[in-house]
Amino acid sequence: AQDRYVSIRDKPAETLCGTRIHLTMNAGLMADLPSLESSGAEGVGLFRTELQFLVRSRMPRRAELSEIYAQVMNAAGDKRVIFRTLDIGSDKVLPYMTATDEPNPAMGWRAIRVGLDKPGVMRMQLQALIRAAAGRPLSVMFPFVAQREEFRSARAEMEKALERERILGHPIPSKLEVGAMLETPSLAFAPHRFYQEVDFLSIGGNDLKQFFFAADRENERVRRRYDTLNVSFLSFLENIVARCDATRTPLSFCGEDAGRPVEAACFAAIGLRGLSMRPASIGPVKSILRRIDLVDLRTVIHEARDEGHQSVRQMVMKYLKGKL
Ligand code: PEP
Ligand code: MG
Repeated sequence: AQDRYVSIRDKPAETLCGTRIHLTMNAGLMADLPSLESSGAEGVGLFRTELQFLVRSRMPRRAELSEIYAQVMNAAGDKRVIFRTLDIGSDKVLPYMTATDEPNPAMGWRAIRVGLDKPGVMRMQLQALIRAAAGRPLSVMFPFVAQREEFRSARAEMEKALERERILGHPIPSKLEVGAMLETPSLAFAPHRFYQEVDFLSIGGNDLKQFFFAADRENERVRRRYDTLNVSFLSFLENIVARCDATRTPLSFCGEDAGRPVEAACFAAIGLRGLSMRPASIGPVKSILRRIDLVDLRTVIHEARDEGHQSVRQMVMKYLKGKL
């Protein structure tokens, strides 16, 4: 089935109305890297760094991490890689760290919360990333940011790490972009200042959706209960797009839904210009994007909403018929 997409691999994801959508891939292991070439991804929109911690029986050393990150950047060449700092806790527990018994780990002590409370590992990781960049551009994003202050503290850690490296005589990145994952509804309503100061935002749709609908992404009984194309969720996303447009904050979407052609088409229609997904989804998503007119699809979405539909899916499917 992948053969179908080989012919468009090196073509842009450009819609009939002439809008370019940037398709990047999600990765986390060295085994993912060859997909950068084969999938036609424009870069890595989400590198989940915790996987390198999870495949080990002990805490990786800074030099080991730095070597791995350098290999990732080497493989990517001119393509941008966005490294997400450690996102542990919740469903991802490191075997060599003392487990905290939490009643509700998805909403517990995880990700940037751990990073800020016990900064040792985060500092080590930031240092490893700066060393791996070795003077090249570097993009880093922090997971699960729920309020502006967390982002500011994390960014301050990055500044400190840079200063330390500078003093030690190591080259610092020629360009540094520090972003946040928007995966808690609170961040959508963060102060204007937050949107101005963040270099970019990436919507972690898996978490954002579970918190938006209060439906555990790990719970089979509820995880498919609410459609991503539910009008409430789409309106919420449209709002985030509008805020980012107002502050010219680059925005992408990196949850699993970005890799589903129908969802991806709708995201593009409501104004998202960057989608990051598993490599195998790039072909199918690009294929549909190249056959649609975003203005038409947007009209369909708004019509469905105005007519009172709970989800826009049915009407969108009618529009997409024959294009999938
Ligand atoms: C997300 O929450 O959508 C996301 C991309 O991060 P993860 O799936 O690793 O939590
Ligand atoms: Mg997440």
